[in-house]
Amino acid sequence: MSTFRSIENADVAGKRVLVRADMNVPMQDGAVSDATRLERVLPTIRSLTSRGARVVLLSHFARPKGKRVPDMSLKPVAEKLDELLPEIPVRFAADCIGSEAEQAVGALADGAVLVLENTRFHPGEEANDPGFTAELARLGDMFVNDAFSVSHRANASTVGIAGALPAYAGLQMAAEVDALTRVLEHPERPVGAVVGGAKVSTKISVLTNLVKKLDCVIIGGGMANTFLHARGVDVGKSLCEPDLADTAREIMKAAEDTGCEVLLPSDVVVAKEFAAGAANEVRALDDVPADSMILDVGPETCAALKSRLTDLKTLLWNGPLGAFEIDPFGEGTFGLARAAAKLTKEGRLTTVAGGGDTVAALNEAGVTGDFTYVSTAGGAFLEWLEGKELPGVAALRVA
Ligand code: AMP
Repeated sequence: MSTFRSIENADVAGKRVLVRADMNVPMQDGAVSDATRLERVLPTIRSLTSRGARVVLLSHFARPKGKRVPDMSLKPVAEKLDELLPEIPVRFAADCIGSEAEQAVGALADGAVLVLENTRFHPGEEANDPGFTAELARLGDMFVNDAFSVSHRANASTVGIAGALPAYAGLQMAAEVDALTRVLEHPERPVGAVVGGAKVSTKISVLTNLVKKLDCVIIGGGMANTFLHARGVDVGKSLCEPDLADTAREIMKAAEDTGCEVLLPSDVVVAKEFAAGAANEVRALDDVPADSMILDVGPETCAALKSRLTDLKTLLWNGPLGAFEIDPFGEGTFGLARAAAKLTKEGRLTTVAGGGDTVAALNEAGVTGDFTYVSTAGGAFLEWLEGKELPGVAALRVA
């Protein structure tokens, strides 16, 4: 298996190290409202600065489409980073290439940090333009990618530059790839996955890949309704994609061929409206009222899934089992998440979860810290689950 160059063994003292981070953080009223992504890159920054590197941070922010959009500046993000790193000076340059960037990089002291302006202010970033890549590369002696979450995009700051400078994996990137490889490529078996969320249409390739590789797949959320429908269950007014019934049947057939068990709900929680506190009841599958929708898995399903978890050694999780944002339809997701967290704490299960909604659900269940690894990546995490090689990761591999 190919590996990465690790920053831990690199001689970085006095070097200008270009670090691709994911600083595309949620903002409100011009200030960072959730710094999770910034916190995740701190270990790499500290590892480099503590050894005398001059760290130059690169990131995109939002979608300015190749133009300078003042509201999409990384300046407030640099200010937040300065707060998070009180022991390290953090400066900001108002461009990521050209004389302004070059002067700011030239003025950097050993052990200091510079944040460059949004790479997407230049069209060359998303076009992975060689000219733009060369301008970025002039600013560094080596490149470190610590942004797994954008490694599904072949941009100048993720892929182009990895070919122009000696390229290394940051600590977060290495941990993320290691966790995902451990679950999908070399898992301790039996290995299962929870795949939930709204629609089958967004996760067909994920399901198709997972049933080939895993011992069991638990399907929940709105997408379970399409599978139930494909099995002849009347799902009433539930979110369902009847056009994908054949696809659901093909996935179930593929699972049967490879000996992967597909687990669907056996009872469900239904309500007449998609609203917090809506009157709800538990129903058997053959008893879903025509005017109601399925919004969560039922208690019998929950108990069966919890028991199934105790047979597994490895669990991957993407997507909620129900409409968890709306009380009380998060019970199935939270209950199963707590059971998985408990088994992890007891050393009986390795748990790797990812995706925006999944992280929100695990946070709400209070178990994020108890899982073995939780990825904040959305699109990149899903593409990895689809079995695709991510260009940003591939560009870092050494044969
Ligand atoms: P995804 O982005 O595909 O992971 O989907 C997450 C969304 O699926 C969440 O906003 C949930 O509220 C929604 N969801 C989960 N289960 C259901 C359900 N049974 N009916 C409608 N929406 C659901």
